[in-house]
Amino acid sequence: MSLLAGRKGLVFGVANDRSIACHVAAALSGQGAVCGFAHLPGEKNERRARKAIEEAGFTDPWMAACDVSSDEDLDRTFAAAREKFDAIDFLVHSVAFADRAWLKPGMFAETPRDAFLQAIDISAYSLVAMAKRAKAIMPAGGSIVAMTYYGSEKAVPGYNVMGVAKAALEANCRYLAAELGASGIRVNTISAGPLRTLSSMAVGGIDEIFDWVARKSPLQRNITADEVGKLAVFLLSDLASGVTAQNVFVDAGYSSIGL
Ligand code: NAD
Repeated sequence: MSLLAGRKGLVFGVANDRSIACHVAAALSGQGAVCGFAHLPGEKNERRARKAIEEAGFTDPWMAACDVSSDEDLDRTFAAAREKFDAIDFLVHSVAFADRAWLKPGMFAETPRDAFLQAIDISAYSLVAMAKRAKAIMPAGGSIVAMTYYGSEKAVPGYNVMGVAKAALEANCRYLAAELGASGIRVNTISAGPLRTLSSMAVGGIDEIFDWVARKSPLQRNITADEVGKLAVFLLSDLASGVTAQNVFVDAGYSSIGL
């Protein structure tokens, strides 16, 4: 049974073959979904993203360059998506950025205003900006998911301003879900355990986090990116038709442990 046969959607955030977005897209495609991709502008970014997307099994993928901090880029990307797909059924937000200079243990109070605002803009406001544009091409309703991390709820050393941005992202999800529910659009966040990607390598002390999770989580291991893909399939499919405004963990149970 293909859970997403005939469904179309946009995936933001493939940088390379390690990107969570790439694994999510592969899982969606495995369930019959058609995906279009938006990536950070730049020739090198485009080349790396295309290689990863093709390796994940997408032949001649539809791709758009889009800096999510630019309203013009977002307008252009969603207009092009409308032309290509007519309407979409899902949107995957797998995008985040904070200047790594401020992602070191003990540096949170030093975060300058511009670095703080940039992290919030790219990592949190972008979901609002995308949801507004997605709604316009989701006439039959749809499902939106965004990637978050436990550092939104607890002070994780080194996660710093990104934790604040994720708290905003999760609140965005609830407010968007409350408004867009009337249009049949569900909005949820996936809180994934740590995975080795370009973004996570910018977090100071990340190796300690991997070790700690492997020792202390109920499943006594870290998760795989494929496990995030499987949860995304669930949330984007009709199996989750009654699920919205939720933050769903795929973290080997770590967030439930009080040690
Ligand atoms: P990644 O580096 O592969 O993906 C981050 C993506 O954000 C990249 O594709 C990058 O190009 C994109 N991006 C950054 N700034 C952008 C901008 N201005 N415009 C457009 N795109 C921009 O790393 P990832 O770990 O796959 O991250 C994907 C999402 O998952 C992020 O939201 C991240 O915070 C979240 N997440 C990651 C982990 C982890 O441990 N890796 C855990 C939980 C949540």
